[in-house]
Amino acid sequence: MNHSTGKDQEAGNSMSLKEKAARANTALWQQSLRNISRARTRLLVCFWTLPVYVVAVWMLLNNGRNVDAFMWIYIGVYALFAIDMVRRRCPRCKQQFFVKTILLNLVTHNCVHCQQALKPTDTSSDN
Ligand SMILES: [Zn+2]
Repeated sequence: MNHSTGKDQEAGNSMSLKEKAARANTALWQQSLRNISRARTRLLVCFWTLPVYVVAVWMLLNNGRNVDAFMWIYIGVYALFAIDMVRRRCPRCKQQFFVKTILLNLVTHNCVHCQQALKPTDTSSDN
């Protein structure tokens, strides 16, 4: 009878599968943190362009141009990036990474719920 060895093999396979799943999870975790970080950077870059936008609108107005379309596009881009950032969820606690109640925290590098850091720390503490 080969029952025992078969079971041993099964156990071995499930172990390696678990390891693979754990590794995949870590990769997914890092990926989602990177995506969250990018969403944050996009909106911050948008904010940095605000002075450029103000100058551009002022110049267009001085030239007697209609700035409505320009304004709406700018606001639309803001809204898109903001919504993208708001809907990002923390891989650890599955809650909105930047949003606590109704406030969008733009400056944080950590999850507003569980303090999960966006960048992996050098000291790998698991608790
Ligand atoms: Zn969290």
